[in-house]
Amino acid sequence: MTDLRAAILARCDELEQLARAASPSPWSLGETPFDSGHVYDADGYTVVSHEGDNSEANAALLVEFGPAAVLELVAGAREMCELHTLNWQNYCEGCGAVLVGDDPSLRAAARMIGVTIPA
Ligand SMILES: [Zn+2]
Repeated sequence: MTDLRAAILARCDELEQLARAASPSPWSLGETPFDSGHVYDADGYTVVSHEGDNSEANAALLVEFGPAAVLELVAGAREMCELHTLNWQNYCEGCGAVLVGDDPSLRAAARMIGVTIPA
């Protein structure tokens, strides 16, 4: 069995560090024709200024998944690790499963934050 919980928590630490080092949230979209496709931080400084194909869609995605969203994902993944704790009999206290492999809930949490799960 992989140590999926440790991998999730390590990835949470990485993502949290990235999110906290980034420009302050919330991020917002440029609202005029002159700054369409631009992303601004909470202080009004430019995070991204891009022009070209899909720039508005790219900017909208960055705003939705900015540092605040990353911190929420990290909090959720950590909560999943807390909820799905195995007892000494490999019985999950969270979902009640008796496990021979990884907890399916932890596997889902791992996928959400980009942890590679071995087959
Ligand atoms: Zn479980």
